[in-house]
Amino acid sequence: VRKGHYKTDAVVLGATNYGESDVILTLLTAEFGKIKGVAKGARRSRRRFVGTIDPPARISVLFHHHGGHGELKRVEDSKLIDGYAGLKADIERFSAACYMVELSDALSSEGDEWRPAYGLLTSLLFELSSGMAPDATSRFFEARILKLMGLMPHLTGCVICRKRVAGEPKAVFSSARGGLLCRECSPGSVGAMEVSLGTAMFLSTASTLDADKLRRLKPNQQLLGEADLMLEDFIRFHTGREFKTRRFMDSMRSAKAVAVS
Ligand SMILES: [Zn+2]
Repeated sequence: VRKGHYKTDAVVLGATNYGESDVILTLLTAEFGKIKGVAKGARRSRRRFVGTIDPPARISVLFHHHGGHGELKRVEDSKLIDGYAGLKADIERFSAACYMVELSDALSSEGDEWRPAYGLLTSLLFELSSGMAPDATSRFFEARILKLMGLMPHLTGCVICRKRVAGEPKAVFSSARGGLLCRECSPGSVGAMEVSLGTAMFLSTASTLDADKLRRLKPNQQLLGEADLMLEDFIRFHTGREFKTRRFMDSMRSAKAVAVS
């Protein structure tokens, strides 16, 4: 990006206080991928930045780029496009939204190659606000963003010998190996888990679909539960970290299960 002023739409991924009155914003933009910029005086003067610095706000932002790679931009103005008020009123939906934001931030680095992620994040935030179940939305988002990054595990056959894994209801999944393992290749795989082929196929399909097609998938709770375990293990293996919001969602789900039984 050349030195100059730029205007783009963005989702706020994070906001950190900086100095006495500034805020450093991490933004997933439509045109420049992920960027970081300092919003001068954002804590003192809420007038210019009102409502626009809290994740997962969708904003229109004007920033100045001084030139050079990876340098902090200067956020000069921002206007709210969507504050996702509906999501904030529902703790489960809001947690799913925060998780998608947290995952986007963790998996991305700054730069143009992250441009398609903006469309993915905004379309699934939209689906989440329009009634898509929080669990399903989170799994769809994980599968889609991993695919987008070229990290999606190989789930249509054995990741080692490439043989189709079919004709059996169960298969072995290994995060370390990056996919399914057939009966011959699976012995000795530490940390591998048994999964149903149906779940593997479901995730493999979901990773390739646009939001309007994802809406038509109606995974049941058992399938979603298994997909949850697989992707949690895989993402933990890749990022080396736990996600606060994901853990929070899991604890809410178990609390609900206890209340029901
Ligand atoms: Zn094999």
